[in-house]
Amino acid sequence: MNDENDGYFYHPLENIEDTDIFETAIDRRVFNHKLSPERPYTYWTLELYDQENGIRGGGGLGILAADTRRVAEQVDVPFVLITPFYPSEAHQVWQDGKIVDLHRQVNYLDFGFRLVDEVFVKCCGNLCRLEVVEKQFKSTRILAITEPNFGELYSGLSGSDHRLYQEVCLGFGGYQALKLLGLKPAIMQLNEVATFFAALVRLDELASNGMDFYEAVVYTRKHTLYTNHTLVQAAEAEFSLEQFERFVFPNLKSKPVRKWLKDKFIDGKIRLSSVTIEIAELRSGVSKLHARVANYRDIAGERVKFKAITNGIDMEKWILPEIMKHYHDDEILDEYDLPTANYSEKLKALSSSEILGLKEIGRRILNDVLAHRPDQNGEILKLETNDIVFDFKRRFVDYKRPNLPFSDPVRLREVLEPFNAHYILAGRVHTGDERMAKILSEVLSVVESDDYLKTHVHYIADYDEELAYALSVGSNVAINVPIVGLEACGTSWEKDVANLNLLISTHDGGVADGSMNSYLNVYGASDAEEAAELYHRMEEAASAWQNGFDLEVLIQKQLVEFLPVVSGTRMLNDYLDYLLPE
Ligand SMILES: *Cc1c(COP(=O)(O)O)cnc(C)c1O
Repeated sequence: MNDENDGYFYHPLENIEDTDIFETAIDRRVFNHKLSPERPYTYWTLELYDQENGIRGGGGLGILAADTRRVAEQVDVPFVLITPFYPSEAHQVWQDGKIVDLHRQVNYLDFGFRLVDEVFVKCCGNLCRLEVVEKQFKSTRILAITEPNFGELYSGLSGSDHRLYQEVCLGFGGYQALKLLGLKPAIMQLNEVATFFAALVRLDELASNGMDFYEAVVYTRKHTLYTNHTLVQAAEAEFSLEQFERFVFPNLKSKPVRKWLKDKFIDGKIRLSSVTIEIAELRSGVSKLHARVANYRDIAGERVKFKAITNGIDMEKWILPEIMKHYHDDEILDEYDLPTANYSEKLKALSSSEILGLKEIGRRILNDVLAHRPDQNGEILKLETNDIVFDFKRRFVDYKRPNLPFSDPVRLREVLEPFNAHYILAGRVHTGDERMAKILSEVLSVVESDDYLKTHVHYIADYDEELAYALSVGSNVAINVPIVGLEACGTSWEKDVANLNLLISTHDGGVADGSMNSYLNVYGASDAEEAAELYHRMEEAASAWQNGFDLEVLIQKQLVEFLPVVSGTRMLNDYLDYLLPE
């Protein structure tokens, strides 16, 4: 896939360190990859969304990290994910008509992590002690660094001292942690620029251990992949030289590396993307559209090319087991969760009665989860098997437009009432985002003032993995309406498509990997036009759930187009092919 980008920025890596050839278990499509348990694929991320292992993220970036590691585990790829273990995590409740943030302490010992040792990072003239903890999962592991005052994910502003401290600890501390375990990275994937320091440490290590500085730069560049999830460079926070003097330079051993870094400051300021582009020759975006439109310049002012590798998901985690069984039994997916050669043919056998039967199982799971997650009125929603349920579940941020479906409440009621349909809204407001907190309150007061909407629109607070899963398996229609051009990929729509929900979406992010008529597309020249189209599509979707033939056609069409995109194994293959071509 992603033909458009092939050849744009494609630099094969000739000599990957002196590794043993590792035969991965994943059939003919991935083999002879030059990875070994001692020289693994390393994946660096400030955010991991993996609550089973005690680490709660903020959104898609963390979900992607967790899914990538789990897929690597399933297909036996040597893989180390390096991330912080945050001792505190944020939750939200809806109380007295507004969103309230709560904080919970978390201890890594409660999640099966083992203390490896400690490492030190220099900050503001002090030596900061960090604990290194790890947890192994077959061929993969999570290697985390932590300390009691590490704070929360995304606490403080993005250009603040505390963020820089967290980022420096992950890079410098994480690299030392790898060495403690006797591991050398065969490749370093940087999940966004906040992990830049990991590659910087590697450069510093090579340059201070006798390698010529320019050789060290070339070497580091060839083994580093920068994965971008953002669209505009200008939106990124800057750090000052003064901050780097306190947090970064004291940790660097090599004089030429210090000079190299210092030269990258412009008017005493630096954006991490500019240096990440310098240190990573391999660069990827997270969907075809995103890779094409991400607007980044290197230091010379040249437009940066990104290789498109669309995010997939760990299907074993996100898809109802009964649906996965169907995909496997009917030879729609192979044993690695990759679509089979004739999966489109095989999908034709998926009947509406099977779809309804599978959704009935999902509906029970949704009810079980809703039983302990009351709505904005403190009420427990109990859905019938045949109730039609729309959901909108994603971070409550501006560009995702959680309020678009409420722009004409009269029309919304007109759409829902004839079907006696429910609408479930779930999404966290970013801590401190007053604007979106207010929009949420406004939406819910509009709902409160209408006697139908009041009992059929439900806001469930503290959106998380549990709710994401329950809604994906148990609702019928997913609504995804980002402003076109602003969603990098999005993965919740992938969970919906694979769990046999109808997708109503704007043509954006990973959805735009497919064709516009493979799902219920929302298009319009203005917000009002888009809203009108959305209501139309909602009626179409609700009718389809009452008409077996329409349902079959629409669901099959979505799956034919999107199953290859959704497959996390496909994504990992794409990364391995890009990083370690034959
Ligand atoms: C899947 C998932 C996401 C990803 O959401 P997008 O809006 O599609 O990027 C975010 N949060 C949670 C809890 C998820 O499960």
